[in-house]
Amino acid sequence: MTITLTGSCFCRSLEYKITLNSVDDARTTLCHCGNCKKAFGTNYGLTSKIPKSAFQYTKGKPKEHAMDNGGGSVVTREFCSECGSYILEYGAQAKNDFRFVTLGSLDNPTALPPKGEFFTKDRLDWMPQIPNTFQKREIKE
Ligand SMILES: [Zn+2]
Ligand SMILES: [Zn+2]
Repeated sequence: MTITLTGSCFCRSLEYKITLNSVDDARTTLCHCGNCKKAFGTNYGLTSKIPKSAFQYTKGKPKEHAMDNGGGSVVTREFCSECGSYILEYGAQAKNDFRFVTLGSLDNPTALPPKGEFFTKDRLDWMPQIPNTFQKREIKE
């Protein structure tokens, strides 16, 4: 059974729709890397990896920012030019296949619970591990 999820930025200038064949087509993860800390403005990034074809903007057009992630790979981030909310990202490798959508931009973030954590070596000391998820010291893709 296909499922449809909706989401938006804070001011709702941007709205989007995700259509999945099953929730198993989405992989939600935390990422503790330094880039995610900066991009999210918090101590970790939280995104759900979905097929590119599953994602569609239904309102508005995002602003894009592309930059080398510091490791020789260009990462593109899309966000609202009005309120600044961060909607999604993708690296050069994933560009044609996947989108990493910020979980908090979903209207119902509980729909896609986390399956794992990346860059746990950079986890802040006070941040607990999420139980029953895979743990990777580094590498996100
Ligand atoms: Zn907005
Ligand atoms: Zn990261």
